[in-house]
Amino acid sequence: MSRRVPACSPSPLKHPHSAADPRLMRTCIVEPTPALLRASDLIAVAGDHLLKGNRGLASEALVDADDPELLDLFTWATTPRFRGGVPRPSREPLPRIEQPRRVQPPISELRRLHERDGYRCRYCSIRVIDREVFARLRRLLPKAVRWGRTNVEQHAAFLCLRATHDHVLPRSFGGANSIENYVTACWLCQFAHGDSLLEDLGVEDPRVRAPGIDGRDGMRGVLRLKPQ
Ligand SMILES: [Zn+2]
Repeated sequence: MSRRVPACSPSPLKHPHSAADPRLMRTCIVEPTPALLRASDLIAVAGDHLLKGNRGLASEALVDADDPELLDLFTWATTPRFRGGVPRPSREPLPRIEQPRRVQPPISELRRLHERDGYRCRYCSIRVIDREVFARLRRLLPKAVRWGRTNVEQHAAFLCLRATHDHVLPRSFGGANSIENYVTACWLCQFAHGDSLLEDLGVEDPRVRAPGIDGRDGMRGVLRLKPQ
């Protein structure tokens, strides 16, 4: 039984090309633009082609998803100037807490997290691609999933749509490195969240909503495929 995938809602961090319906409640940090939604669909289509053995069509869909507009979106969402536009808290800032170095969760924990969250960003609901699937896509179709050292050399859609784990309560405010404090996020929402408190961004805690499970498996079926 699949659950309804919640729609994205207006965000205080609104990109000019945002597609979200302003009548809905605020849940997003960064709203997906039409170009990002299209790229997400194309990646899913590519996954379906791969599973049917049609690598040529999969490659075409992935090349199509590599939209330069998404590099602009990524740059916009991740620059300090943009984050500087975050609304200021109306109260005294909370004391920040010095934490030990950030710990990368084991791959098994990330897998469990992304599965729990339906392979979607818990803020903006867009489909995300986990690390293992992304690595396999690069091996299967290295020309279509270009990945160099700098952002401009990297596939623009995967820049935005790789799955990350976001600390709902930032570590600088005492947030734990635990699956209870993590949510799956796209890179745009994760970067823009940064170490701000969600309430200071005017964004609802995503854990109050059930994850949107739509029966898709985050394209994990491609992990069965071997490079030719
Ligand atoms: Zn997101």
